[in-house]
Amino acid sequence: MKNAEASFACNVFNQQVMRERLPKDVYKKVMQTKKMGTSLSSDVAGVVANAMKDWAVEKGATHFTHWFHPMTGVTAEKHDAFLSPNSDGTVILEFSGKELVKGEPDASSFPSGGLRATFEARGYTAWDPTSDAFIKDGTLYIPTAFCSYTGEILDKKTPLLRSMDVLSEQALRILRLFGNTTATRVLSTAGAEQEYFLVDKKLYDQREDLIITGRTLFGAKPPKGQELEDHYFGNIKERISAYMHELDEELWKLGIPAKTKHNEVAPAQHELAPVFETANIASDHNQLTMELMKKIALKHGLVCLLHEKPFAGVNGSGKHNNWSIASNDGQNLLDPGDTPTENTQFLTFLVAFIKAVNKYSDLLRLSAASAGNDHRLGANEAPPAIVSMFIGDELQALLDALENDTKADIKSNVKFEIGVDALPSFKKDNTDRNRTSPMAFTGNKFEFRMLGSADSISCTNVMMNTTIADVLCEFADELEGAKDFNAKLKEILVKTYKENKNIIFNGNGYSDEWVKEATEVRGLPNYTSTVDCLPTYLADKNVAMFEKFKVYSKVEIASRTEILLENYTKVINIEALTMVDMAKKQIYPAVMEYTKEVCSVLASMKSVGIENATQEKLANKLSSSLKCLDSAVTDLEQALIAAKDSADDVYKHSRFYRDEVFSKMQSLRAVADELETIVAEKYWPFPVYSDLLFRV
Ligand code: ADP
Ligand code: MG
Repeated sequence: MKNAEASFACNVFNQQVMRERLPKDVYKKVMQTKKMGTSLSSDVAGVVANAMKDWAVEKGATHFTHWFHPMTGVTAEKHDAFLSPNSDGTVILEFSGKELVKGEPDASSFPSGGLRATFEARGYTAWDPTSDAFIKDGTLYIPTAFCSYTGEILDKKTPLLRSMDVLSEQALRILRLFGNTTATRVLSTAGAEQEYFLVDKKLYDQREDLIITGRTLFGAKPPKGQELEDHYFGNIKERISAYMHELDEELWKLGIPAKTKHNEVAPAQHELAPVFETANIASDHNQLTMELMKKIALKHGLVCLLHEKPFAGVNGSGKHNNWSIASNDGQNLLDPGDTPTENTQFLTFLVAFIKAVNKYSDLLRLSAASAGNDHRLGANEAPPAIVSMFIGDELQALLDALENDTKADIKSNVKFEIGVDALPSFKKDNTDRNRTSPMAFTGNKFEFRMLGSADSISCTNVMMNTTIADVLCEFADELEGAKDFNAKLKEILVKTYKENKNIIFNGNGYSDEWVKEATEVRGLPNYTSTVDCLPTYLADKNVAMFEKFKVYSKVEIASRTEILLENYTKVINIEALTMVDMAKKQIYPAVMEYTKEVCSVLASMKSVGIENATQEKLANKLSSSLKCLDSAVTDLEQALIAAKDSADDVYKHSRFYRDEVFSKMQSLRAVADELETIVAEKYWPFPVYSDLLFRV
């Protein structure tokens, strides 16, 4: 690309294009909607639709689509041509306000968790004007929310938008109490750091497990893994660099501010980080980023793996959700700021968030729960499955001083108006980078590190937005009636901190001592699997909070829980079937071929009177291992049959898959991986780890 500046967002119907193409009054109304989330009248929508269509057609688009985020985890789209036939056999290009605002896709094939019987197959998509329309592959994409005929939400965007409204409303109440009269909207911001693997397409094509499940179900540890730590931030190979370059260009054209790229810890692993945006847009953009990562890889003879754990024994891929809260008068509300009032306001939001994370740690945990991410959380590479919070020693000292009514032992103290020690002018780097915390304060934002690489960031942001709003609401209820604001505020902050500081842990989250302390001393929950944590979605406190703020109804939460658990069992079922298939059709024959060769050597040696213990030992080993493999396959097959017994109880069913099916898969894998180390290379039926990881 000659000029990144000129082509940035060239395929986006953004503010600049709207200013040029819309009548002034219409433009103003759209801007109001974008900034405040207010609704648009149908005549305004008509004008916008027409301008969008003209712009899109000029850019070569022939179709439009309502683009939405069903519970499948990937986005969905159905394309309609703009053209509309005239009676004289000619056509005109049309796109009405109605078509922009509302779509009616057949929704029966999307997961609904029992919400929508197929006879009510109709679903609605509704335009989300806060996220810009864009052109991709000759189609105009309109970001939309997706709900059922009866109004229950079926997607990942709607709750996010609702949670953003809730956060705005409650945060504004707090800002007003601090005397702010300028802010009219508060938004959550998010920046998603995205990890991924790249493997050679030719090698990928030879592995049924990668093709079908996105991860390797077999594979012995290679002689070299990541122990030399030579890949992290290492030189980027030419082929990878060309890929990253094209990816950046394509992302920029869609207005996605891809900023940083580097090699990650594992061989063949990389990361991309964008500049942060409002959470809803960041979520849309992260979906597009994942899609383009995969698509562009193919053009370079590569395959991009977004699975959380493509290779056993090698680091998996995560996604970090950097999150903060910004007001539309230009403040980052999680920035400690330089003046005492900014500081107190910051402390209020900080303490509110500490309580939110403590009270609703189960929701944060489950927002990162999936079959794929179960391989990471709790293992020694991702944050532990226990939610805790890192705020750094300095902030902790300050909050301790507040609690004990003493002076914090920090330089450059300023007296707070509420009579506590102020934050010193706060350097962002003071929170030395704790990489082991699931929720780390990083100077002016929190970084949630539990998400898996394939996850949508939407659910996590719903949780962060709604739970902090819940606590801010409590604070505001108490403060609005207070006679002495400062005294009341101090009382609330001290009490809240005291009751919730249990969740703060600034040490090494990967250590065994922490797991012991967290669970035995502090009583923090440790949900080690998806199946453990998902049912907490329906805990009374969670349902009450979501219903209070109208983010989800109880029915919607139940449907989500069911969908996610079903997804878990389906994923493991597919993996198990793939293993059986690969074992029987590829590994058995390979072992037999090699055994045949060894035996024929052995026979010919014997025929001339040479005794050889090595060949004999090998032949015996091969034959006994094959027997083990066969019985492991049989065990797994039997577990799959037994699983059917619990099929009508999604909770039982998913537990059975975790406890029975998954453990049988691991046993099968162990035997196969051992065989891989003794069968001659030319007989092994698919590329091994060293090929996949080092031949990119
Ligand atoms: P690193 O974590 O590698 O040091 P940064 O801290 O600069 O890098 O940023 C990491 C990510 O956090 C980036 O995607 C960035 O856009 C995002 N980020 C920075 N500030 C904010 C904010 N106020 N709200 C949300 N995300 C943010
Ligand atoms: Mg980071």
